[in-house]
Amino acid sequence: MQVMAHALRRDDAGRMGDAPTTTVAPPTRKVHDAARHPRLARELATMRAMLEIYCHDLHAEDHGLCAGCEALLGYATRRLDRCVFGDDKPTCANCTVHCYSAAMRDHVRAVMRYAGPRMLRRHPILALRHLLDGRRPAPVLPGAKRPPA
Ligand code: SF4
Ligand SMILES: [Zn+2]
Repeated sequence: MQVMAHALRRDDAGRMGDAPTTTVAPPTRKVHDAARHPRLARELATMRAMLEIYCHDLHAEDHGLCAGCEALLGYATRRLDRCVFGDDKPTCANCTVHCYSAAMRDHVRAVMRYAGPRMLRRHPILALRHLLDGRRPAPVLPGAKRPPA
């Protein structure tokens, strides 16, 4: 969901008014609230760490993320914040819903394939927690059919 930002600006006649300016992504809530949603916050930290490894090594970004990886992180942040499972979420790889678009899922798989094996050495605690999270049973939404094993 996007919200419209408004700012006071003068119209052609010089009057001040409340005119729409740009569209901005709404601030996320749960994923940035580690005290109340540690599971979601940890998943976001893991995603950021993997993207930083991937982007640094393959896109030669030394400071932060390139535009494409930043866009993927923003997308993943919004998906996490709105995850239907909330704090009981499985890892996205084990999910029964898969809310990512096909293109974003391909992109994130490429990141995981590259960065996953490197996580244990560079971020051992996050890597171990992610391994443990991956053992959580994937919940099925009420009314949804569990996919064949
Ligand atoms: S893929 Fe599944 S677990 Fe991951 S954010 Fe989407 S609904 Fe939640
Ligand atoms: Zn990148």
